[in-house]
Order: sequence, then structure tokens, then C-alpha cells
Amino acid sequence: MTKQLRDKEMKFGFDIDDTLINLREHAFHIYNKKLNQNIALEVFHDLTQVEIHEPFGMTAEEGSLMWNNSLEEIYYTDCPPYPNAVEILQELSNQGHEIYYITARPLEHAERTKMWMREQGFPVNDENFFCGMKDQHKVNIIQKLHLDYYFDDKPDVLNTLEDENVKIYVKNQSYNQNLTIPRLKDWFEVKRIMEEISSKNIV
Ligand SMILES: [Mg+2]
Repeated sequence: MTKQLRDKEMKFGFDIDDTLINLREHAFHIYNKKLNQNIALEVFHDLTQVEIHEPFGMTAEEGSLMWNNSLEEIYYTDCPPYPNAVEILQELSNQGHEIYYITARPLEHAERTKMWMREQGFPVNDENFFCGMKDQHKVNIIQKLHLDYYFDDKPDVLNTLEDENVKIYVKNQSYNQNLTIPRLKDWFEVKRIMEEISSKNIV
């Protein structure tokens, strides 16, 4: 009995920024405001790189300075979660699945990020929160945790996971269109994965 119940539980890992929450678009609005510009959202939606500085006429160096100087505002104001993200993660957690967060946000932002995520309604367990690693090093944690599923937006991360056992999904973004792995356009689509899991577990 216990064994059967255990078998049903899966480990779900999630990147946070631009996977669960609409961070770059939020930052784009902040840049417009701070720089007194009014660059249209269509420009944002056409970006083929993760960085957002280019439409504002900044060099990569200026862009990274702007990003780092705006980090407080970008991270801790009212960045919206993507539709259905909170609800789906709550549902997974309520069904007994384990929810892990693996974010490359700087380590000094770990505690406040956890708090902010909880305030948005995401289920956050302190032991299941990993922070401060480089994109290419996420794979080490994902291996160690033996995740069943992992969701991210960045090609640099997902490309390191293709040979691993974990089932990976890419959160659809303008800069990851070249990836051919399963693509998630709305968090509602995770329902399909959940149905597959529960149908496999009916004995
Ligand atoms: Mg991300």
C-alpha cells in the first residue's frame, strides 16, 4: 500500500524566471519607465535573445549594468506569474508530488525570493529550493535530485539536459523557438502530464 502510494509521487523541478513568472516583460516595463521611453511590447515579443537591453539602445555592458541596478525592482515588485502556473503547482503539491525550484538568481536573493514566491501562492518548501548556480550547472542539481520532470525557458540550460533521464519541457518564449523538445505554451497544459501519471497508476 505504502509502496503504491510512493510510486505515484513524482518530482517536478521548475526554473522560476520566465518559466513560472513573466519576469523579462515586467523588466521591460520597468526599463521603459526608468528610461522615459515607450517601446512597444511587440518589440519585446520579437526579441531573439534573452537579454532585453537592445531595443533601448544599450550595449551588452550597459544592459547588464541596468539589469543589476534594477534587480530589486525587477524581482520584488508586482511581476505576474504566468496564467495557471500557481494553480497547477498547488494542484501538483496537493496530489503529493514534490515541487523543486532551481533558479540561477544570485544566492543573496534566496530568502526574499522564497518569501516572494510564497506571497504569490506558489508552494515553497525550504529544502526544495536551490539558488545561485550558473545556468550550465543546474544539470548537477537536477541529476542529484533525480527529478522526473523539469521545466525551463533557457536553451543554455535545456541543452545540458537532453541526455539525462529527466523529462524536460521548454516554456515557450521568443528566444527558444529553435528547441525541438516538448513545448509548453500555457501552464494549463501540465494537466495532460498529470492525467498520464494518474492513468498509469490505476491498477
Ligand atoms: Mg528562466
